[in-house]
Amino acid sequence: MTASAHDGVLDLVVIGGGVMGLFTAYHASRAGARVAVLEAGRIGDPRTASYGRTRSYRRDYLDPRYVRLADEAIRLWNEFERDCGTRALVRCGCMNIAADAVTPELASTYGRRSTAVMRRLGLDPEVLDRRQISTRFGYLSADEAYLDDEAGLVDVAAVTEALLRVLAQRKVAVHEGVEVAAIVDDGDAVRVTTDVGDVTARGLVIAAGHGTNDVLSRLAGCELRIPLTRDRPSEAKYYVPRPAERSTFTADRMPVTAYLDTGIYVHPIVDGVTEAVKIGYYNPPDVPRGTTGIESIAAFVDQCMPGLRTAQVSDVRDVDQCDYDLVGDDEFVLGLVPGHRAVAVGVGWRGTGYKFAPWAGRVLHQLARQQGTVYDVAQFDPARFTDRVTDPVDVLQGDEVH
Ligand SMILES: Cc1cc2nc3c(=O)[nH]c(=O)nc-3n(C[C@H](O)[C@H](O)[C@H](O)COP(=O)(O)OP(=O)(O)OC[C@H]3O[C@@H](n4cnc5c(N)ncnc54)[C@H](O)[C@@H]3O)c2cc1C
Repeated sequence: MTASAHDGVLDLVVIGGGVMGLFTAYHASRAGARVAVLEAGRIGDPRTASYGRTRSYRRDYLDPRYVRLADEAIRLWNEFERDCGTRALVRCGCMNIAADAVTPELASTYGRRSTAVMRRLGLDPEVLDRRQISTRFGYLSADEAYLDDEAGLVDVAAVTEALLRVLAQRKVAVHEGVEVAAIVDDGDAVRVTTDVGDVTARGLVIAAGHGTNDVLSRLAGCELRIPLTRDRPSEAKYYVPRPAERSTFTADRMPVTAYLDTGIYVHPIVDGVTEAVKIGYYNPPDVPRGTTGIESIAAFVDQCMPGLRTAQVSDVRDVDQCDYDLVGDDEFVLGLVPGHRAVAVGVGWRGTGYKFAPWAGRVLHQLARQQGTVYDVAQFDPARFTDRVTDPVDVLQGDEVH
């Protein structure tokens, strides 16, 4: 692989072929840029965060800035579906639940607080009481629920297939099994030396997940290192309901269901994608254990989802054998690498990045190609981990984008 193999200097090289890197290449090539993607392993490796069957997409954050971004990301997913002629989203909705017996302080549950934030932004989740919940979702035992119809699941295999198909159509070279040895940025162009040759481009995007600091260490003169740590759900289980009850748990009737105060999230069965209800239990490091009566998935099913008590249970082993990339201050890392006007980095997406991928890829492409972005990404600036300050980027407020 040499720059000449790409007919001279490229517009953009992307290091990392996860969903963030592929969406960066997607947006850049859509804008007419000549792009190459360098992936150390292989696209869709089960050990990477972007491998799986389903990822939830939702807007119910406590921080209004993330609500706006999630809303914008959904708009971009819709655009992506139209552009690629694919169905990426399973529009089943996402519902937060709470039960008095589990979290007696109902007024301060995640569902209530996130609904209050969403309402302030003009988004209006449906509110259900115990009677309405049991009428519509008879398998649940909860006192209140907040249902956002605009949320749901992303079909991961469909996304990866569509991205690779469209990138191939646009002649984007996706190189797998490539080891990056050195990166030199001379201000006009970035030369990436690999074990299979060099590639030179006007801009570089680093979206290498847990490999990000290794890549940054190869960039000559780069002092930035991101304080990344790893974590993963404590438990993940498949529940296969009895055949007679299966239709109750399919995405056309069951929304993504979350009880985030207890660390639980539930994905419904999606025909052709997954044959079981998936339940994950994640106790984030900053939330003390033992604050609710739910310390396991089995306890959650017993107390809140009794309709699954008779289901067949097994561990999730075929997917999600990978870690979240956490950052100490719990904010994404998304911006230009200090001291480099055309090198952008995106990492630290925790367990919530997939839904933002079309947006993150767009930002990374704009940063590396245009040295600025139409979105306000100041809070994600990687410069917070160095003493150096990035050149000011041209910023419009996210709300002004539409
Ligand atoms: C178990 C689990 C469940 C999740 N659930 C959800 C969910 O429901 N909803 C949601 O929105 N998000 C979810 N997420 C988060 C989301 O999946 C991730 O944020 C997202 O996939 C991150 O994508 P990425 O491209 O940054 O990372 P990755 O997919 O890890 O991609 C990085 C790529 O870079 C490559 N690489 C590394 N080093 C190098 C190098 N030196 N040179 C070249 N390439 C390199 C890697 O091989 C890899 O392919 C979940 C994450 C996990 C782990």
